[in-house]
Amino acid sequence: MMAYDSSNIFARILRKEIPARTVYEDDFALAFHDIAPQAPKHVLVIPKGPYISIADFGATAPSDEIAGFWRAVSKVAEQEGLTQDGFRLISNSGSNSGQEVPHFHVHLFGGTKLGPLLV
Ligand code: C5P
Repeated sequence: MMAYDSSNIFARILRKEIPARTVYEDDFALAFHDIAPQAPKHVLVIPKGPYISIADFGATAPSDEIAGFWRAVSKVAEQEGLTQDGFRLISNSGSNSGQEVPHFHVHLFGGTKLGPLLV
């Protein structure tokens, strides 16, 4: 697996070198509005640790970081008012998926009736 590149844009957001519209932060995760939203609600949730993708995160992160991250995802969905009507999570991993930013992130989409998943 390739090495984590700490100059990626989400690493820079974590270090507060560039701004983001943060909606949630705790010891394990940061959540912020996507700059190019593809749904009325489009939030990105990222772990604080240096993981490239879900493949990297799931295979190498300590269990407390994995648990803390996914609990944060659920908290963000609840906080953003999405749990009643529903929402969708997507995580691109690697080149076939079109992953642009090499820091693991989950897209959280909601706020409307979403269309079918595209492949
Ligand atoms: O999953 P993927 O890597 O393709 O998604 C990256 C996402 O990060 C895009 O939806 C893009 O709009 C978002 N982005 C952002 N803030 C930045 C750079 C990218 O929200 N500064």
